[in-house]
Amino acid sequence: MSKLKFKIEELKSALARMEGVDVTIGSIIEDTWEESMGPTPMPSIDTLRAWDHILLNRYKPFYSPFCDMCCLCTYGKCDLTAGKRGACGIDMGAQQARMYLLSSCIGAATHGAHARHMVEHLIEKLGGDHKIDLGRFISVNAPNIMAVVGMRPERLSDLRKVLDYAEEQIVQCLSATHTGQEGSSIDFESKSMHVGMIDHVVMEAADIAQITGYGFPKGDPDAPLVEIGMGTLDRSKPVVICVGHNVVTGTEIVDYLMKKDMMDKLEVGGLCCTAHDLTRYEKTAKVVGHLSKQLYFIRSGVADVIVVDEQCVRLDTLKEATKVKTAVIATSDKICYGLPDRTNDPTGEIIKDLVNGAPGALILDSEKAGEVAVEVALRISEKRRKLKALPDKQEVMELARDCNVCGECKRTCPLDLSIPGAMEAAAKGDLSGLVDIYDLCLGCGVCEPVCRRDLPILNMVQRAAERKVKEEKHLLRSGRGPILDTEIRHVGPPIVLGTIPGVVAYVGCANYPKGRGALAEMAEEFLRRKYIVVASGCAAMDIAMHEDEDGKTLYEKYPGDFDAGCIANVGSCVANSHISGACIKIPSIFARRNIRANYEEIADYILNRIGACGVAWGVYSQKAEAIAVGCNRWGIPVIVGPHASKYRRLYLGRKDIEDDWHVYDVKARGERVFVGPAPEHLMYASETKEECIVMTARLCIRPNDTTKGRMIKLSHYLDLSEKYFGTLPDDWPVFVRTEADLPIAKKDVLLKELKEVGWKPGRIPDPTNLERFKLKWR
Ligand code: SF4
Ligand code: SF4
Ligand code: SF4
Repeated sequence: MSKLKFKIEELKSALARMEGVDVTIGSIIEDTWEESMGPTPMPSIDTLRAWDHILLNRYKPFYSPFCDMCCLCTYGKCDLTAGKRGACGIDMGAQQARMYLLSSCIGAATHGAHARHMVEHLIEKLGGDHKIDLGRFISVNAPNIMAVVGMRPERLSDLRKVLDYAEEQIVQCLSATHTGQEGSSIDFESKSMHVGMIDHVVMEAADIAQITGYGFPKGDPDAPLVEIGMGTLDRSKPVVICVGHNVVTGTEIVDYLMKKDMMDKLEVGGLCCTAHDLTRYEKTAKVVGHLSKQLYFIRSGVADVIVVDEQCVRLDTLKEATKVKTAVIATSDKICYGLPDRTNDPTGEIIKDLVNGAPGALILDSEKAGEVAVEVALRISEKRRKLKALPDKQEVMELARDCNVCGECKRTCPLDLSIPGAMEAAAKGDLSGLVDIYDLCLGCGVCEPVCRRDLPILNMVQRAAERKVKEEKHLLRSGRGPILDTEIRHVGPPIVLGTIPGVVAYVGCANYPKGRGALAEMAEEFLRRKYIVVASGCAAMDIAMHEDEDGKTLYEKYPGDFDAGCIANVGSCVANSHISGACIKIPSIFARRNIRANYEEIADYILNRIGACGVAWGVYSQKAEAIAVGCNRWGIPVIVGPHASKYRRLYLGRKDIEDDWHVYDVKARGERVFVGPAPEHLMYASETKEECIVMTARLCIRPNDTTKGRMIKLSHYLDLSEKYFGTLPDDWPVFVRTEADLPIAKKDVLLKELKEVGWKPGRIPDPTNLERFKLKWR
């Protein structure tokens, strides 16, 4: 892309006469991609509004206000309950939609800033001409960017142009949340969808930059199995742990160790998504765990040095690390912790100060930060080993005797965990209640400040569960990156026909109650049924924390391909873009649709033909909101859960409104045809894993399913409903278009029931929701 400037010396037309006019055209896309430009390159905030309205007309926003006041400006705070409007005129629906947009803007801005840092860093390191090479099996190298921006990035510098566009769109969307701007809930939702779409663009830019710049696996189904868990760290060695999402400094730590030939002298690991990316760079790096492990891990005192980069890092890291004499190095201008900026100080001086007890340093030069982290860890580790970070078991019992069983901690705990009961038992020498809490706990730490006896509840829990902590060693398949073109060619037809019953993507922050295991159990249910399972971020880690009775995780039991009955871990948070990317690649590679700047056609294809469903289990962040609504705009439903009441806004279909479920049938000259509620919702909240499993199978049903595909999907839906709820779902008849859709094993019984309810056969259309395509595609 570049600006085009030219001067018109003289122009005469019927309408006007011009002389000496300077003309500037904003951007021209220059690349070697031969696909012709589609209708919506670099869409602005309103370009795809019509598509959003098609979706929102069917999937109506449902608001469950988390807060019914608004305090965004000094007119307020305003009470928006019972139909009241704020002083600016906003009503409750628009306010809820505005808050969702604000969250999505925060999410997209966070990924965008991450992408910008990554791209600029790699351009400085490797040069703007460095080729974006994802290997010989990936030619559709950036499906989100290609379909939205209209360009195929070939060099790192091309990503700068992508980010210029994306940043402008994020600013435009954010500006709409100001007081006295947008006032319609539906148009707020459309803007959320816009910024969600941009979120996938910037995530993709970040991930393809780091794949190409750092040599991460390029869609490798056999990416190595790496170690995960608090017990994987060899505590006899100095330990450096990176926390956050931006792996730049982590790679410098590894490079420094390699240069000094000391890789085996020090343990390098990570928490949260940085950990994923560290293992993509160096397979011997350890993954400590996901977000909810942060506080436990910091307090364990195992890390000699903690390097924080950005996103989802606990804000009390410095305070907690100081207590256990762990040095903290902040490496991003997003998280400075009030630390002195030592970026330009001599390396030796920073090392000396940290070794002598300075709590931390802000170092914005990643290479310097990498060297300092290693050298400090090497020098303080010996001394720190004598440090006692947690109470011993005897002390745990003594502390527990100080508990007055007031129950304040339980009342504050978001999971209502039985801490007082566990304390009572511990006081009598039985630590099992505390051990149970370790399994269930989110590690949020909010129970401690309310304890009037100042009991270090988490430290007590962790000591009680020390055997479990030490045994926490599992295997995770390192993030493979994008889906290969060859895989898409192989699975595209069965996905679109429905004979691969669905693609289920597990994403999210693993911030869910009742312990681990829910994600792995849900994933295995669909793996056994030959769905394609994909995972990313903390959800991919959480899946690896669960072993079967033979001690195996799903990554050891099932292949890492993008294929039926396989589980593909795509990587860190920004690798979520490869999940939407895989859906975009199917119409491009299998159906030969043009994807270039052709958003609506591709989203319409995905909505009607690709039985994909995202499951965001235990999500908590604004990034997750942006990712989810970005999927929704592509026509991919998302289930969030569990704590369903916190999700503020859902997109729910109404299967009782028959008119909502009609599409144009291209085969029948655009006639409107009823297709049933497929997919029924775009964003749905489940409270339990059982409900989530059954809903996942339902949301994989699509209008385009062939009779064989529908029969397979319906079989799973009915079987899962019987398995988990003990009965058939009451809505199954709406998914039956012809007798051939019925599962063979139950056909006679079901047919009899259909006749009783007056069922009439329907038609299997060539579906589109876009009126302009109703007679013919393109
Ligand atoms: S933005 Fe509107 S609703 Fe919110 S506080 Fe200001 S006037 Fe009240
Ligand atoms: S708040 Fe403290 S004193 Fe009260 S029950 Fe909980 S642990 Fe015991
Ligand atoms: S740290 Fe654990 S026990 Fe304490 S409030 Fe949070 S979830 Fe409950």
